[in-house]
Amino acid sequence: MSAGRLYNFSAGPATLPETVLEKARESFLNFENTGASVMEVSHRGKVFSEVAERTEATLRELMAVPDNYRVLFLPGGATLQFSSVPNNLMGQQDSADYIITGHWSKKAFDLSQRYGQMRVAADAEALGYCDIPRAEEWVLNPGAAYVHYAPNETIHGVEFHNTPEVGDVPLVADMSSNILSRPIDVSRFGVIYAGAQKNIGPSGITLLLVREDLLGHCRATWPDVQNYAAQSASGSMLNTPPTYPWYLAGLVFEWMRDQGGLAHFEVLNQRKADKLYHAIDESSLYSNAVAKHCRSRMNVPFVLADDSLTAAFLAQAEQQGLLALKGHKAVGGIRASLYNAMPEEGVDALVAFMREFERTQA
Ligand SMILES: *Cc1c(COP(=O)(O)O)cnc(C)c1O
Repeated sequence: MSAGRLYNFSAGPATLPETVLEKARESFLNFENTGASVMEVSHRGKVFSEVAERTEATLRELMAVPDNYRVLFLPGGATLQFSSVPNNLMGQQDSADYIITGHWSKKAFDLSQRYGQMRVAADAEALGYCDIPRAEEWVLNPGAAYVHYAPNETIHGVEFHNTPEVGDVPLVADMSSNILSRPIDVSRFGVIYAGAQKNIGPSGITLLLVREDLLGHCRATWPDVQNYAAQSASGSMLNTPPTYPWYLAGLVFEWMRDQGGLAHFEVLNQRKADKLYHAIDESSLYSNAVAKHCRSRMNVPFVLADDSLTAAFLAQAEQQGLLALKGHKAVGGIRASLYNAMPEEGVDALVAFMREFERTQA
């Protein structure tokens, strides 16, 4: 890492690959000899059109996106999709199913209720959001417009290690915090969406993949900029899009491809997570309550046996150059986010600090 940069475990906006930031810096004033920054040119001009095309092409290659899926870059963050999903997908149906496994899938359900009689197919609240209800216990409605879930719960640290089986009903995933962390079969999903600021790039843009046959059912009252068919028809340029985050997302995709693609990141992310969970499990000071089969590889929350030590842990971690480890206020304690751009050396440094901190408490 270059001088002055520290290991940043923020849940989002999150750390970006240093080589991407350097590349952006090189072209900050003068992009590819055009005489202007990429953020200073028309989104409809040749320069940015090429950036947009290259970004989509690289993403399609990375995720092996089938031809019958459209790729959209939308404003409004993942949160706006909690409303856009029902408004685009409900069609003639009056209900959709929600699987609730933590903060974000609960929020998606709460907001969706303005738009229909939504049903809870499964709810992990009684499990303290530390486990995923067994699939045999889910109550899925075969006539639902879609099934919504969050493959990775960023706050509770709960991740589906496999894509759920929901029959012919379109599966909709809020993949904000684990998209691009491992290969997935896109054809299993109706819609995948993700705010960029965890594993894609800076905040300000939302990636959405949608199966073509799901387009064209948007409610007339819903804004066109959140109408998937209208945005798709205009290349996500119904109005001025957030061009700079879009460009940076493209640089991140190219960096990922050059590193070896999603297969490379799957192995790396597993190794990083294994190291941290091992350190937690072998200690008597730290603990993580999530069931092992659904522990998140991206966001690792843990608590100290004596909570009065948490403030000292955070202060000393920061002195060691380990940033943003404070847990979300909903669960407290510590949270280390280990997205693609967190190098393995950062996890090694965190684990070394945790051992040293525990030793000095003994
Ligand atoms: C961060 C996050 C969100 C919220 O994203 P915004 O872009 O701030 O709206 C939603 N869902 C999940 C799973 C997240 O991690």
